Amino acid sequence: MGKYVLLAVVAVVFILAAVWMRDAPMAPAPVMKSVPAAAVSSGTPLWVDDDRIRDADSEPGSWLAHGRTYDEQRFSPLAGINRDNVASLGLAWFLDLGTNRAQEATPIVVNDVMYFTTSWSRVYAVDAMTGENIWSYDPKVPGEWARWACCDLVNRGVAVYQNRVYVGSLDGRLIALDAASGEPVWEVDTLIDRNLHYTITGAPRAAKGKVFIGNGGAEYGVRGYVTAYDAATGEQVWRFFTVPGDPSLPFEHPELEMAVKTWKGGEWWKFGGGGTVWNAIVYDPDFDQVYLGVGNGSPWTRVIRSPGGGDNLFLASIIAVDADTGKMNWFYQTTPGDNWDYTATQDMALAEMAVDGRLRKVLLQAPKNGFFYVLDRMDGELLRAHPFATVTWATHVDMDTGRPVENPANNYLENPQWVLPGPFGAHNWQAMAVDVAAGVAYLPAHDVPFFFSMAQEWLDTGEITKKPSGWNLGLNFDELSQTLLVNADTQPATLGYLKAFDFLTGEEKWAVKHPHHWNGGVIATAGGLVFQGDALGMFTAYNKDSGEVLWRFNAQSSMLAPPITYAVDGVQHVAIMTGSGGAALHGGETAPAPPASLKYGNLGRMLVFKLGGAATLPPPTRVDRSIPEQTLVEASAEELGQGERLYNDYCSMCHGLLVRSAGTITDLRVIAEERHAIFSQAVLTGLYADQGMASFADSLTEDEVAKIQTYVRYRAHEDREAALGNREEPRLTWLD
Ligand code: CA
Repeated sequence: MGKYVLLAVVAVVFILAAVWMRDAPMAPAPVMKSVPAAAVSSGTPLWVDDDRIRDADSEPGSWLAHGRTYDEQRFSPLAGINRDNVASLGLAWFLDLGTNRAQEATPIVVNDVMYFTTSWSRVYAVDAMTGENIWSYDPKVPGEWARWACCDLVNRGVAVYQNRVYVGSLDGRLIALDAASGEPVWEVDTLIDRNLHYTITGAPRAAKGKVFIGNGGAEYGVRGYVTAYDAATGEQVWRFFTVPGDPSLPFEHPELEMAVKTWKGGEWWKFGGGGTVWNAIVYDPDFDQVYLGVGNGSPWTRVIRSPGGGDNLFLASIIAVDADTGKMNWFYQTTPGDNWDYTATQDMALAEMAVDGRLRKVLLQAPKNGFFYVLDRMDGELLRAHPFATVTWATHVDMDTGRPVENPANNYLENPQWVLPGPFGAHNWQAMAVDVAAGVAYLPAHDVPFFFSMAQEWLDTGEITKKPSGWNLGLNFDELSQTLLVNADTQPATLGYLKAFDFLTGEEKWAVKHPHHWNGGVIATAGGLVFQGDALGMFTAYNKDSGEVLWRFNAQSSMLAPPITYAVDGVQHVAIMTGSGGAALHGGETAPAPPASLKYGNLGRMLVFKLGGAATLPPPTRVDRSIPEQTLVEASAEELGQGERLYNDYCSMCHGLLVRSAGTITDLRVIAEERHAIFSQAVLTGLYADQGMASFADSLTEDEVAKIQTYVRYRAHEDREAALGNREEPRLTWLD
């Protein structure tokens, strides 16, 4: 068995979410206190407006918006912590967040108060100097909604605007909170249909008196759109759909008449079409327009959506719309006719810089497809598109046509094959930082290949049936996992990187190799530093010019979230949230570099550092992952194969392929007999619905659950035997 086989398999099983947590998501008891003096100095209520965010460099101690400024460069002018003194950086304070789920938020710091979100879309306001709780707010997301979140019940943060804090809840609501008290002021339902499996995980953005929010769910079969709401009242101002709906119905806006001509011969609207805007929405005050980062197609395979070909606008595109009207000014499609889950939802940075001797206002994005795009913000003109990671699906981007040139050998309809990047992307939502003066982006990149193979149903019949409560990708996962298990040696290497990438020349200035692919977002500072948390639990300061490690802290937990930096009373702080998961829930035990979450549990914390900080984390407790002896019922290989297939389809996304959890969600191999006794009840009655493990009675029968449980027992037994040294290699699969 190749040592990367588990990593490989990781990338394969994007199937169905079944969530069964190790323990309940304990919300820390909200301690309601009065607002500290700093937040109400001179009796002035908090007020953040467009001018203040535009002028963010005049208050470098704040982190006013998602990417710090409207430019979203995540480059801080603070230099109090720098290359000369970073060695004395230490923990100032930390907060236990009472959750073992993934944390992805970028905190906002304004008027010395830090606002951030945790799993389940919960919001916290704390004193940025001490971590003391000011208020907290729980939108009470129905636990069962977790089943519709592809990549855990995460949230990437709030917007703070005027005197409000805005949060999108996992179940599709946009909520405005009073910034001083945390009390809800208004709430709107952003979903067009609550029977479809939409989720909100992204941070809202605010500008021009409006709040902008999108959603996710393309894997489940939905249609993407972004809505602008009046920041004061919650009234809808405009809505932009990213893909056309049923063409027999009137189009919601004229851009869709143009888009529909690029969808040919299929019935994509029955699958939603995809194009969800689940992460980047960036306001550009220079052109008074909002950029929407549009996601992948639904299903993933274009031949199902659009058998007659076509680009399938506006999938995998960057769309510029007028901030006031939502009318499209221009678009650029990174991956015409997306066939690989190549979202262009990754963060976008705005900059003004010389390109070919001319000062340009540019937009920068490194989407999943592996090319780093530099566009002119005025009209979307393509200026650069250099590959920043291993790319096999296309040879290059033709700068005359602006289109990628697909590698003809990559047609997986006829030849199932490895493709790079895989659906994890060469870069995912983990934020990059841009150093305009150096002409460099600091990129959390990775090479995670994926084996693409068409769904058997499509090969047999030329179509697929939409699964109402499952993933609809159009691919064949059983075949894939078999190929992986049998032909692991053919798999390209899986690695993570922190890269300093010159996006104008395509030159890699330096790269740090991470043994695990799924690492955190990045900030860069005028102190000459780049900060990143990684899967192994290390929070590191690198020299931004060389990638040299200058400081490192063992955070005891894997990290995905981007760090931020801010200052209180002139003292610079660096903050980061710990807790991994997201799309890598199904990661399993990823030798040779097991993430910290597997060793110590997935500890959800806010960590804040300053020079000379002397706080310490409690000593970590090693998680007991020993597998108890299993009570095995007799089962044929055929029955075990059936159980395995069902497990792959309904459980592996959260509990891990091969029943090996990545550390966030319960590892079913280690559960005690008393939990096995209620296995069927847990799966079918929603016993743990409040923790995200909703009933699967809509998809599974009692008999099928029994088969899954038997498979789980046998897998546990095999791994136990191997761990005890009774057997060299555990048996991994019972599928034919
Ligand atoms: Ca996707």
